[in-house]
Amino acid sequence: MVPETTEPLEPLVERHDRLSGALGCEFLVVRDDLLPFPLAGNKVRKLTRELETAAGDEVLVSNGGINSNHCRTLAMLGARAGQRVHLVLHSEGGGEEVGLQVLDLLGASYEVVSADRIGPTLDRVEHAYRSKGVPVRRISGGCHTPAGALAYRDAGRRVVELYRPDVIVLASGTGATQGGLVAATHGSPTRVFGVSVARGRERGIAAVAEAASWAGAADALVDFVEDFRDGGYGQFGDATTSAVRTGWRFGLPLDPTYTGKAFAAVLDDEFRREHLAGRRVVFWHTGGLMNLIASGIDRTGVSGAESEC
Ligand SMILES: *Cc1c(COP(=O)(O)O)cnc(C)c1O
Repeated sequence: MVPETTEPLEPLVERHDRLSGALGCEFLVVRDDLLPFPLAGNKVRKLTRELETAAGDEVLVSNGGINSNHCRTLAMLGARAGQRVHLVLHSEGGGEEVGLQVLDLLGASYEVVSADRIGPTLDRVEHAYRSKGVPVRRISGGCHTPAGALAYRDAGRRVVELYRPDVIVLASGTGATQGGLVAATHGSPTRVFGVSVARGRERGIAAVAEAASWAGAADALVDFVEDFRDGGYGQFGDATTSAVRTGWRFGLPLDPTYTGKAFAAVLDDEFRREHLAGRRVVFWHTGGLMNLIASGIDRTGVSGAESEC
């Protein structure tokens, strides 16, 4: 008999002593960037749970940007299970060659349309498969689904049980990851700060609260920080770039679309003094290495800094 494989989704938690010293708090990192398929991060956890209820003959249909971690993770899990994946993608600018290359390698079908054609194209794709008698499962963009939130509720409970953090900080996008963690910590003293990568407070809080209610915490308070969006989704300026560089210098590999923004909050004097100082902090690393590669983040100053050392 084949022995049991290791439990691949058990949260991997690291202590970062050097960062703890620099930040004045106890700094732990949950390395969801290393979930199987190391380029995709939190979408592995969300989609693994989502697909637990998928039938093997279903075509998995979803949408996102060409560089969507959700879309490439869906393509990966589909390939692993032998399930067809059909993606409706839109372009968000440059740096998309590698993203398409990964989708090609994984054997996903896709079409690239303009943003206003996404809904009608999804409908057409679904109709085309169904009219051939092929069952379709449509998955919301970003895997913003109850299963996604439940996956994070369970992972969050595990981390809270083992480490009892005072604070969890993460990058928050569509909100299911934060919503699950909010549900995991509901009724405990742990606070969960979602640092927005795109949305303003009102829309962001509504989405996180919805996800928290899917995961069983309908009345939970949501801490959603909008101050580090740095130009909006996929955009970034000096504050994010500087946070990304600082993270790498401490052995914490960050990206400018997601995790760099969450880390910019950690580095912010006021945020740190108010919420992190002297506390046990879990930085929930959600992934994003492919976004770093696609970003073409400029190297200005990097070689200069190196030559000073
Ligand atoms: C999708 C994503 C997020 C945001 O997760 P949500 O559940 O959509 O809020 C954060 N980080 C990375 C790297 C992601 O790909």
